[in-house]
Amino acid sequence: MNLSDFDRVAPSRVILARTPTPCEPLYGFNQQHGFDVWVKRDDLTGCVMSGNKIRKLEYSLRQALDRDADLVLACGGEQSNHCRATAAAAARLGLACRLFLRVPDPQNPPPLAANSLICRLMGAEIEYVTPDQYARRDDLMVEAARTEQARGRRPYIIPEGASNAVGAWGYMRAAAELAADFDALPAGPDPAVVAAVGSGGTLAGLILGFKLIGRPVPVIGVNVCDDADHFIRVIHDICRDAIQEYGLDVEVTTQDIRIADGYVGRGYALNQPEELAFIRDLARTDGLVLDPVYTGKTFLGLTRELEKGHPDLAGRVVFIHTGGLPGLMAKGDELAAVL
Ligand SMILES: *Cc1c(COP(=O)(O)O)cnc(C)c1O
Repeated sequence: MNLSDFDRVAPSRVILARTPTPCEPLYGFNQQHGFDVWVKRDDLTGCVMSGNKIRKLEYSLRQALDRDADLVLACGGEQSNHCRATAAAAARLGLACRLFLRVPDPQNPPPLAANSLICRLMGAEIEYVTPDQYARRDDLMVEAARTEQARGRRPYIIPEGASNAVGAWGYMRAAAELAADFDALPAGPDPAVVAAVGSGGTLAGLILGFKLIGRPVPVIGVNVCDDADHFIRVIHDICRDAIQEYGLDVEVTTQDIRIADGYVGRGYALNQPEELAFIRDLARTDGLVLDPVYTGKTFLGLTRELEKGHPDLAGRVVFIHTGGLPGLMAKGDELAAVL
């Protein structure tokens, strides 16, 4: 199934991402290690409307428009890339945007910077919430939606990371795009695909997408929070929901969901010097900038797994650069310490 066949079976989307994104080899890194790693540049899906979330939002926001919404509700961490992409896309589509951002102390939120700065610039309203409140984010957004409805607004809720059945189409479509990339690579077996896992929608979409187009590509996720068991559950649920909701003729078992655990480090959005030094080194060998929260840890994990001889990673590997550059800007001081 090629991309135009895919678009015929997929729900309609609103075009926000600049696709297809390039798929290019690394040079310095590959030479140094003797690996064959390519990078799918989903950091180039846009400038501000960029990264992996914008692919999912093409489908989520189409659904919001179809339901005649005038306001979108979204949530994430204080430096959420997802919320930044949502705020920008909402502004572009003429929708109001309200964001729930997790901070240690909502009475004293950090100053606007990087992602949060762009969210406000785009006119999004920010409500800071505690980690405890964030733990019940779905209820929080449903309550906020009810209040807004009572005021005559038509809210649309986007769950964390747009990682649900409709959002999964974004990376199902990326799988179809990757299949075309693979056909253009030097001859050889299909590569394995590696991506970061934060809320699971990217991995779920890739797994579903390669099944839907009938191309058995191993998809390996590196989790940047929680653990493998958690994400096998989460990703399996997203796949099940998408299969049910859209009547997809595919089957996803827990065996299809491969997570390389062990690279969370100090915790979500927390770094150790080794991770920052790794980001520095790749910037210097290849001119490629990873982010400290997702792609830096994931690429470090990929490198360690390659060194250990992970059975799925023996040949060519395509790493999905899911974006997150503003997150790096928010950590300038920490990063400067390793430069
Ligand atoms: C959200 C995010 C991810 C994780 O994707 P999920 O679909 O949430 O698992 C990876 N990289 C970046 C830069 C992100 O912002």
